Amino acid sequence: MSSLRPSPIAPTVEFDRDGVQHGFLRLPYSRDDSAWGSVMIPICVIRNGKGPTALLSGGNHGDEYEGPLALYDLARTLDPSQVSGTVIIVPAMNYPAFRAGTRTSPIDKGNMNRSFPGRPDGTVTEKIADYFQRELLPRADIVFDFHSGGKTLDFVPFCAAHTLPDKALEQKAFDAVAAFSAPFSMRMIEIDSVGMYDTAAEEMGKVFVSTELGGGGTSRAQTVGIARRGILNVLRHAGVVAGAVEKGRTQWLDMPSGDCFSFAEDDGMIETMVDLGEPVEEGAVLARIHSTGRTGIAPQEIRAKMSGVLAARHFPGLVKAGDCAAVVAVEVD
Ligand code: CA
Repeated sequence: MSSLRPSPIAPTVEFDRDGVQHGFLRLPYSRDDSAWGSVMIPICVIRNGKGPTALLSGGNHGDEYEGPLALYDLARTLDPSQVSGTVIIVPAMNYPAFRAGTRTSPIDKGNMNRSFPGRPDGTVTEKIADYFQRELLPRADIVFDFHSGGKTLDFVPFCAAHTLPDKALEQKAFDAVAAFSAPFSMRMIEIDSVGMYDTAAEEMGKVFVSTELGGGGTSRAQTVGIARRGILNVLRHAGVVAGAVEKGRTQWLDMPSGDCFSFAEDDGMIETMVDLGEPVEEGAVLARIHSTGRTGIAPQEIRAKMSGVLAARHFPGLVKAGDCAAVVAVEVD
């Protein structure tokens, strides 16, 4: 159990003050190049009177860009006269990782989305997680955390929520996913949900919505556009921003079991046999892994364990045993 000591993070913003505030979550971090230094995590609070609170984040993984691009933009442009309640924006949650362009923190190798509930007396990453767990999440009515595939995965662009034991909470989350109006909407399951921000929010009874919008350690014009339109739609849907949701066409996808994931069992060079969004039949070859140490060796085949569409794929050209090679999802009405 984490102790009850207060978080070392000092916000330079006030969460209950009306107007627009651009500031920092200042986390003391003493080190060789700055004895009394701090990590300065950008935060924006836009408040206009009473109403629901939306907590928006990107950069949970530091090499995913649609969320930060949409959220720095939103912080700069959202007019508080259009707001009823509070919008809290943290565009780069694992700020040290974001600055380094890496999934995990260069300070402590912390993966933010495996660090919850965090610790006030832990590593830098655990201290940030603890601040979200005990200070930010309890304020929120709706929590939105942007993800993309990062350097090693690429996804069809989707907004997602988890299937949950609390069906009323699950429905609220799926309604927000529908409002986001990405080209795809996902009923998502996780390989391992322990330590995730998602799980922390859901266990607190919060409506939690996420995305996977492309990947490869960069962004695309299409996916950034989806992120910018989608987050405004979710804020309108939640009643935090004025105006009607601009609904677009979306295809719902389901991840019915762990059979949707395929993992490489060999090192080598990966050859994608199906492109993202294309239909696949059960048993179809999704990818081949070519051994490169010598010639004359047949490639290992990775086959689909269910029919559906290819929703995600390994991005770099080289693959290692254990890497997630492909994800198949099932189209539902
Ligand atoms: Ca991610």
